[in-house]
Amino acid sequence: KYYNMVEDMKGKIRVFCRIRPLSRTEDAQGGVIAVEKIDDFSVSVDTPRGPREFQFDKVFTAEASQEDLFQDTNRLIQSAIDGYNVCIFAYGQTGSGKTFTMVGDKDQKNPGIMPRSFNAIFDIIRESSTKFDFKVSAYMLELYNDRLQDLFVSPAGEAHGQPPSHGQVRRVEIKRNRKGVVFAQGAETKEAFSAQELYALFLQACANRHISATKMNVESSRSHLIVCIMVDSRNLTNGSVSTGKLSLVDLAGSERAAKTGAKDHQLKEANSINKSLSALGDVISALSAELPHVPYRNSKLTQVMQDSLGGNAKTLMIVNISPSECNLEETLTSLVYATRVK
Ligand code: ADP
Ligand code: MG
Repeated sequence: KYYNMVEDMKGKIRVFCRIRPLSRTEDAQGGVIAVEKIDDFSVSVDTPRGPREFQFDKVFTAEASQEDLFQDTNRLIQSAIDGYNVCIFAYGQTGSGKTFTMVGDKDQKNPGIMPRSFNAIFDIIRESSTKFDFKVSAYMLELYNDRLQDLFVSPAGEAHGQPPSHGQVRRVEIKRNRKGVVFAQGAETKEAFSAQELYALFLQACANRHISATKMNVESSRSHLIVCIMVDSRNLTNGSVSTGKLSLVDLAGSERAAKTGAKDHQLKEANSINKSLSALGDVISALSAELPHVPYRNSKLTQVMQDSLGGNAKTLMIVNISPSECNLEETLTSLVYATRVK
């Protein structure tokens, strides 16, 4: 039964909805709740025009722990090791809980999907080490203003307060090999031999992200974080090889720019984010409508994610929302976006 569920997911996009707890600020603003879970598969939103229902593959409330969420995600990690392309991404406005879901909280008291996946990969590998030889490697990218950056390369010179020298700036381009596997040309791929090593690589990537982010005077929520883990396995009995890929994506905040009173560079950011998120939405709805043409090439984001959306890939989208009435508009926008998949 367990494996049938995985089989059923092939080429399909599953959507989870996660409602975070009321924040302190929202509480101070009256704490009016506008989103309620009806059952495991639906939420109801109180709109000025009455209640509106949305359906999902699973709904998680504020009470759901990181473990609870990962229990329903875990089998996808097994799939990546079995040779599938798997993509898990979080969508929602800034502050809705995307990073909490994908990465965890700051002190890692509540680790999210990424660190849990790192552990799960190596746990599974250890269990099958008598039958398979494995190689785990990763590249980690940031997509900001339509530019892909290799997060294994620290922004040149910046750590020493010097402007980046142009010779050292490497362009990352998304290419596909003969088998249709997407790879990031110009980005470094590093091998990891344990979950700890993979996590250390991730921390290194985050640090590189942070430096450039503050330099450009932006928050990380204005860029997409893309963590790709490749698992090569070789069957020790018959020598057959397979490669699975796990892409974990913490998307940029989906909110509209106007609300924050955006300035020039912020508008550029917002436009670039809107463009990439709507391109992603277009790809997802084309896939779910089984249209003959899927517009992957409309943005770098969908190019990066191309081999993890559609085809044989297994995709999980987690739409993160606030429960509060004061975020009602953005919440509705997110829920509508997420249900384009249906
Ligand atoms: P985003 O990445 O979407 O901008 P964050 O993940 O940073 O949002 O979440 C905003 C704040 O809410 C953070 O302080 C985070 O720790 C907290 N938070 C989000 N989701 C949850 C949750 N499910 N349980 C507890 N705290 C959460
Ligand atoms: Mg975030």
